[in-house]
Amino acid sequence: MALDIFSQKSGNLKLQACRESLPPCALSGATAFFADIPDISIVIHGPSGCFFYPSTVLHREVFTTGIIESDAIFGTYERLDEIIRSIRKKGHKDIAVITSCVTSVTGEDYSPITDYEGVILIDSPGFLGGPAIGYKRAMDALEPACDESKIAMNVDGICKLDPFNKGNFFEARRLFNISGIPHGSFIAFDTLANIKSPSNYTLTLNPLYESGLGAQCGTLLGLDEIGQFAKKIEEIWPNCRTEEIFIELDKTEEIISYACEKYLKRNDPPSIAVFCDHGYYEYIVKTMKNYLDAELINVKKEESDQFNIYEPSPSQNFAVFEVITESKPDLVFGSSFEKVISNKPAFIGVSYPLRDKVSLSSKPLLGTEGLLHLVEDTLNALRDRSLSHCTE
Ligand code: SF4
Repeated sequence: MALDIFSQKSGNLKLQACRESLPPCALSGATAFFADIPDISIVIHGPSGCFFYPSTVLHREVFTTGIIESDAIFGTYERLDEIIRSIRKKGHKDIAVITSCVTSVTGEDYSPITDYEGVILIDSPGFLGGPAIGYKRAMDALEPACDESKIAMNVDGICKLDPFNKGNFFEARRLFNISGIPHGSFIAFDTLANIKSPSNYTLTLNPLYESGLGAQCGTLLGLDEIGQFAKKIEEIWPNCRTEEIFIELDKTEEIISYACEKYLKRNDPPSIAVFCDHGYYEYIVKTMKNYLDAELINVKKEESDQFNIYEPSPSQNFAVFEVITESKPDLVFGSSFEKVISNKPAFIGVSYPLRDKVSLSSKPLLGTEGLLHLVEDTLNALRDRSLSHCTE
C-alpha cells in the first residue's frame, strides 16, 4: 500500500519519486558551512558517493579524494596529500578537509596535513547525524572568538542547505538598513577573517544553525520577535531608527489579519501537518494557529521522535506517510518527500530537499516580508486546493 504512492501518473508524465526522504548528513552540513565563504577551498575526503550530494546541491566548487575500496585498506593519506598540493598549485591558500564515514573509521592519522599553513581538518562523518552537527563542527574548527571592541550586530544561522537562506539574509539586511545599525559578521556568508572574529551581538536567522557567538539578540521569526529585536537594538544603539520597523509591523499585522479573516468567512480553519526543523516548525505552527485558527495534526520532535527530518529512518518515513494518508490534512508543509506523499492536499515547501521545484528567487521565510510570503503562499495553496475540489 505504502509504496504505490511513489509511482504515480500525472497526465502523460510519470513521476518517479524517491522512496526515502534523503536528507543531508553531517558531512553535507560541514560542507554547507563553507559553501558561502569565498576564500576557502573544500575537500571531501571520502568516496565519490559522499561527494555527490553536497557538490550537486550547494552549487559551489568542491574537491574530493574520491577514494575507492583498496584505498580504504591500504591507506588514503597519500591521496589526500596529493590533492591538497594540487589545490595549492592553483593558488588557493585556505583549505577545509572534511572526513566522511569511511575515512573517519579507518583510524588513519590525517593530522600531519594540518601542519600545512591554512589547512583545517573537520571530522564530520555522516554517522554523527544531521547537517546541524556538521555545520557546528566546521564552525568550531575555525575557533571563532568575539572581538569585544566591535560593537555591531552579527547575523548567524545562515546555511546554504536552508531553502530560505539567501532571502532571510536579505530581509535581515533590509531591517538593518532601515534602523541604521552597524552589521558585524554574517555566519556563514562572509570572509574567513570576519567569521573568525565576529562582533559582540548576534541576531539568529535559522535557530537550527545558531552559532552561540556573541550576546543573543533574538530572531525575526514572527512579528512579536521582530518587535523584541527592535527594542533590543534601541537599548544598544539609542539613536537607531526603529520607528519605521514598528510602523511596518502594524501594517503587516493589519494586512495578514484582513486576508485571513476574509478566508475564514468563506472556509473552515484548515488542518495542517508540518515537517521541518524545530526553529521553523514553531514559527509556522504559531503563524497558522494565530491567523487561521489551524488544527495541527502532527507533533514536533520533542513530543514525538517520529518527525525529525534531519534524522530519518524507515519507521519515521512510514510515520510521515501514515499521518498524511490517514489524517488527510488540508495543507502540508515539508520537503519534496512529503509532497510526493501528500499528492492531493495543498503543499508548501519549507524544508530541504526540495527536488521537484525550480527556485530562482531569494524568498525569505522570516521578517515582515517572509511572514507575508508565508501567509500569501498558504492562502493561495488552500485556494487552489478548494478550486481543484470544485472541478473534480
Ligand atoms: S552518511 Fe556517511 S557514507 Fe553517507 S554520504 Fe554521509 S558521509 Fe558519506
